[in-house]
Amino acid sequence: MDVSKKILIIDDNEANLFSLKKILEKAELQIHTALSGIDGLRLACKNRYSLILLDIQMPVMDGFETLEKLRETELNTYTPVILISAIFTEDQYKIRGIKTGAVDFIPKPVNPEIIRAKVKVFITLEDQKYQLEDLVNELEKKNKLLKSEIKKRKKIENDLRIAKQNAERISDMKSKFLSNMSHEIRTPVNSILGFANLISNPQISEQDKERYVRYVSNSSQNLLFLINEILDHSRIEAGELKITYSNIDLDDLITELFESFTQIKKQMGKDNLKLIVETQDDAVRYCKSDLQRIRQVLINFLSNAVKYTEKGEIRFGYQAVKDKVRFYVRDTGLGIDKTSLESIFSRFTRIENEDNLSSQGTGLGLSIASRIIDLLDGDIGCSSELNVGSEFFFTIPFIAGEMLPKHEPSVTIDIEDPDWSKYTILIAEDEEMNFLFLKEALRSTGIQILWAENGIQAVEQTIQKNPNLVLMDVKMPDMNGFEAIKQIRNSNPAVPIVIQTAFAKNDDGLADFEETFDDFITKPINRTVLLKTLDKFLND
Ligand code: ADP
Repeated sequence: MDVSKKILIIDDNEANLFSLKKILEKAELQIHTALSGIDGLRLACKNRYSLILLDIQMPVMDGFETLEKLRETELNTYTPVILISAIFTEDQYKIRGIKTGAVDFIPKPVNPEIIRAKVKVFITLEDQKYQLEDLVNELEKKNKLLKSEIKKRKKIENDLRIAKQNAERISDMKSKFLSNMSHEIRTPVNSILGFANLISNPQISEQDKERYVRYVSNSSQNLLFLINEILDHSRIEAGELKITYSNIDLDDLITELFESFTQIKKQMGKDNLKLIVETQDDAVRYCKSDLQRIRQVLINFLSNAVKYTEKGEIRFGYQAVKDKVRFYVRDTGLGIDKTSLESIFSRFTRIENEDNLSSQGTGLGLSIASRIIDLLDGDIGCSSELNVGSEFFFTIPFIAGEMLPKHEPSVTIDIEDPDWSKYTILIAEDEEMNFLFLKEALRSTGIQILWAENGIQAVEQTIQKNPNLVLMDVKMPDMNGFEAIKQIRNSNPAVPIVIQTAFAKNDDGLADFEETFDDFITKPINRTVLLKTLDKFLND
């Protein structure tokens, strides 16, 4: 702010003004002059001065009045004013002047040396005052900035602290999850290896052999379930879990679950635990939703209910509630305390208490269930009382579906081994173990088997050897199954092609290629399912 060199001289005598200007000429000042108090005030309203020299004796508005008014202006409230007068030189006038705010008093005729020296002093003082003001302003600004910076930093520190706590909590949960997971994987693997070893002992009885095979099979199922849970979890994390709507007969689903869980609880030695299908509501029996996913959530609820209930009963069912279908599983088991209930649907959550330490689980099931129900536009929840029992439930919007034609008898029923000795099958499979399994599973049928280890070989062999059927793996090196099918179709549009894959039908982009293959079989392959599927094509 360069106002330091600006001064105002107010005097009604033009000659005085001229001589004062002359005296101060060399001081390198910007000098404004006014011939009356009123003119002086006008200038003082527009400019801020470092110093004002003010004559006292003026017509209309004298120096004292002008001075009072100057103090009321916004820009010159604190500007030093030196009063100049020839007649008002007595002390009482000086005192009045000082009281009104003048800083000095100079008698006329003015002594040029004195006035120059006084002007210099006041100008210098004002200069310093402005510099000080600027400094204070600057400091205030910096202070403000500093305060907002401190506030921002405090917020960032707080956010960081919360993020760190969260990260630590999740890392802790993940470590627990991983150590638990390693236990969960080792348990079935140990049992598979152990019993497979025992089976190879030639001295064991047929009865024991059957029992060991059953153990191996159960442990493999557990392992598969675990792997599917982990895969679902990663699909959810990657936002890749897909929902496929189809017509559902809910009675069929509930009956199927009742049958399989009657078996499961028996295998777990929980014969005393009653399993009861409670409500089946005809109004919503035929609906449209994702059958696999609803089944998956109910299986999770029922598995937990069986796992965490020793005696009493498990009731489950579904009913219409307004425009929704509500499914529930109610047990009389361990129950869950209020605090744990809040986090029960979060990832990796397992409630640690002595009663359930021994039970298996990853803590992923309910979090997966919760995400699935989210994707189905539904709600999920649980009410529970410790040592009394729990009710797990979910709702989904009711979309009316069509009645399904009665399905064929279950494929798990054994079929007699067919004679396929006049046929040739090409198995495209890059994993040798998988190929060996298929070869063994088909051995008794007498079928000729060709093996292609990748898509390129599959195309070549189909063209050269013209098999009766191709069993095609999807993920293979060099050329995948879909590309191989495309090329095979160019030369041999009629050969039946059955896809075998570890993915569900709606995953892996399989639906996009539905037109190009004839049937579909999911890994791990069940021998009966395999024979039944091939039988559709190897039958004159
Ligand atoms: P887990 O694989 O450990 O069973 P879930 O996500 O399915 O994982 O369940 C998380 C936790 O919720 C379980 O570890 C168990 O402590 C508790 N829980 C789930 N269902 C029940 C139930 N019906 N009764 C008592 N506790 C249950």
